[in-house]
Amino acid sequence: MAVLVFADHHNGKFPKSSLEAVSYAARVASATGTSCVALTTGAITGDGGLGNVGASKVLNASALQGNDSQQLTRLVLAAAEIEGADVIVFSHDMTGKLVAPRVAARLDAGLVPGATGLPDLNGGFTVRRNVFSGKAIADVSVTTTLKVITVTPNSVGIVVGINTAQVEAFNPEVGAAGSKVREIKHDDGEEGIPLPEADLVVSAGRGMKGPEHWGVIEELAKELGAATACSRPVSDIGWRPHHEHVGQTGITIRPNLYIAVGISGAIQHLAGVNGSKTIVVINKDPEAPFFKAADYGIVGDAFEIVPQLIQAAKTYNASK
Ligand SMILES: Cc1cc2nc3c(=O)[nH]c(=O)nc-3n(C[C@H](O)[C@H](O)[C@H](O)COP(=O)(O)OP(=O)(O)OC[C@H]3O[C@@H](n4cnc5c(N)ncnc54)[C@H](O)[C@@H]3O)c2cc1C
Repeated sequence: MAVLVFADHHNGKFPKSSLEAVSYAARVASATGTSCVALTTGAITGDGGLGNVGASKVLNASALQGNDSQQLTRLVLAAAEIEGADVIVFSHDMTGKLVAPRVAARLDAGLVPGATGLPDLNGGFTVRRNVFSGKAIADVSVTTTLKVITVTPNSVGIVVGINTAQVEAFNPEVGAAGSKVREIKHDDGEEGIPLPEADLVVSAGRGMKGPEHWGVIEELAKELGAATACSRPVSDIGWRPHHEHVGQTGITIRPNLYIAVGISGAIQHLAGVNGSKTIVVINKDPEAPFFKAADYGIVGDAFEIVPQLIQAAKTYNASK
């Protein structure tokens, strides 16, 4: 018996979302009296730091490059069989969303996509997740012997220890790739913090009037150590890149702090951000719907307030 977790990495660096998934799997393993086995592909250094977040063993499919979901499905199935895994965990990232349902279907396993909490093991196996674009919470009772879970980034945290996992080469036959990946571009955070992993996010909408005014949003984000995001119309018009668009049709994020500047708070926008721990809204319209979802609200002109916040952040940073 084991809890198997697929841990994706970018050039050997495991993103926070992967470490969260491993830490989640380790805590499930501990609660169920089993061990946590992590599965990775490509080249990694040592155990990749996965022992520190709870893996007791790392299976490394070093020969497998790329992220063809059919090959990854076969790889996970082979690892699950050899380890006798009864729980299989992924991050709720692009790879997890593609591979977890295939694995669950092949194993006839119950699937909980986007878990936001550890399973409740009192008399069963019940996992919490958000439904209806974050407007409701569902406690999903999984009754199958085999269970597949994807973990929503920024929802369960990471428990860090000082362990080293044993690393084993694991290169089963996974067949030919069903698709050809021509190019992979990773955002390694060199030009900023990747949005899905950011603890702090400064986001702006049409209230900023035009792309030429985004300097203050970027400056505030820089002073706070935050990532930048935007509403959909802003990326549709081309003021900001599409990967910054949050909401129902964009990325879903759950940062500790979400600062929304000049965003009205339409339901489709809230769907992607209402899991944030603290929401601060800056809007000149006191009737803007976003204020209903806000923990803190500032009614006023963004062009006056944001520079004051930058100044306050600079003063605070200088005093540290
Ligand atoms: C199917 C569907 C899917 C959608 N998916 C998404 C999605 O994923 N994400 C998303 O964001 N939207 C989405 N939308 C669009 C959504 O309905 C809203 O139209 C959009 O979120 C509005 O963007 P906004 O708040 O930036 O602009 P606006 O609605 O134009 O709001 C601008 C806000 O800025 C304020 N403002 C203006 N000037 C200032 C100033 N100087 N200082 C301070 N405040 C100021 C205004 O009071 C206003 O509240 C979707 C819509 C549909 C139909």
